[in-house]
Amino acid sequence: MLMTSLIRLTLGIKDHRVVCVTHADNELRVELDAKKNRRLPCSICARRVYPKDRLKARRWRHVSLWGIAVFLYYRPRRVNCPEHGVRVEEIPWSIGKKPVSFPLITVVAFWARLLPWDQVARLYNVSWNTVRSAVDAAVSYGRQREPYQGVRLIGIDEISRRRGHTYHTNVYDLERRRLIWSGAHRDKDSLRRFFQWWGAQRTAAIEGVCCDMWQSYIDVIHEYCGHAVIVFDKFHIIRHLMDAVDQVRKMEAKALAETTPELLKNTRYMWLKNPWNLTDLQKTRLTDLLQMNLKIVKAYLLKELFRKLWQYHRKRWAAKYLKRWFWWATHSRIKPLRDFAWMLRRHEEGILAYFELRIDNGLVEAMNNNAKSISHRARGYRSEHVYSLALIHSLGKLDLPQTKHRFW
Ligand SMILES: [Zn+2]
Repeated sequence: MLMTSLIRLTLGIKDHRVVCVTHADNELRVELDAKKNRRLPCSICARRVYPKDRLKARRWRHVSLWGIAVFLYYRPRRVNCPEHGVRVEEIPWSIGKKPVSFPLITVVAFWARLLPWDQVARLYNVSWNTVRSAVDAAVSYGRQREPYQGVRLIGIDEISRRRGHTYHTNVYDLERRRLIWSGAHRDKDSLRRFFQWWGAQRTAAIEGVCCDMWQSYIDVIHEYCGHAVIVFDKFHIIRHLMDAVDQVRKMEAKALAETTPELLKNTRYMWLKNPWNLTDLQKTRLTDLLQMNLKIVKAYLLKELFRKLWQYHRKRWAAKYLKRWFWWATHSRIKPLRDFAWMLRRHEEGILAYFELRIDNGLVEAMNNNAKSISHRARGYRSEHVYSLALIHSLGKLDLPQTKHRFW
């Protein structure tokens, strides 16, 4: 009797009753039935109608009790709704056709945001597929309640998995700091899929898009969202510059290998780091090297000068400074920097757009680190789709379903 009332209480049911609870093969079998002479809600409009007939028994996995698997059994009723015709009743512990009860979905989805999925599976004595299914249901639940109204500024970034063997395209809401979409690959089609899902109406509301100088993305943004201002992400630009500086160091180290192989040894981070982050030893070494007539010194100084660009408040002054820097870099006779400068020239409009909207993907970088740890903790998201699902679940800030009874 106590068991029956506990189950009724935790399920929060009013129109249904627990017929019996039996224990066999180390599982608890809970049989439920609809109360007699009671109207049940239509699953579309929730209007209450007397039931007409019953369907075959369905089975739902429920929250385990002291490590014992619990299953709910019930024959859903059909109602003849005056508006929608013959429909299945709205079953309070069920979401759609999922074989997992609503409370179990809630509990598992809650922990799957924080823990590796295989651990959640072990904790609740369910299979990995049940966890996936619960997260899937939780994400659909959250998405239905999230119209994404008023998203003005988005950030697009790619994230690599499996050490760069596969990529995902992620789209972020920069103002509310959340992931709104994730899909496999980083080509035109991946971003097209985003815009197709996002739809014309929400696309019209987008005012600014922040991304890398990646032609595939740029083309698709022009295609779908031509009215928005494209801002090239400052952190990506800096990374391109760092790559150029590092290339110079490698070239020079190679040239010096015969005469003074020790000179540039272990200096890689010294040139790339911000000067105030260097150790005392590195500072001394840098000061010594800066006296020498080396290409890497020139590249280093140009890199430091470039940093000043972001300090401008007005676009006009930033544009002037960028022009000067372009002249210095193109006259430096250092090929990697000349190439970088020409890349800036080709993308000048989007670089200077920063001074209008002041958006960057800095937060995205932080979230991407999170996404990477999600990838680590997954230990086998078995498909690209599941990885996207896990990302949205953890970084999407979607509402989780709530149950009357808190199981954790
Ligand atoms: Zn109805």
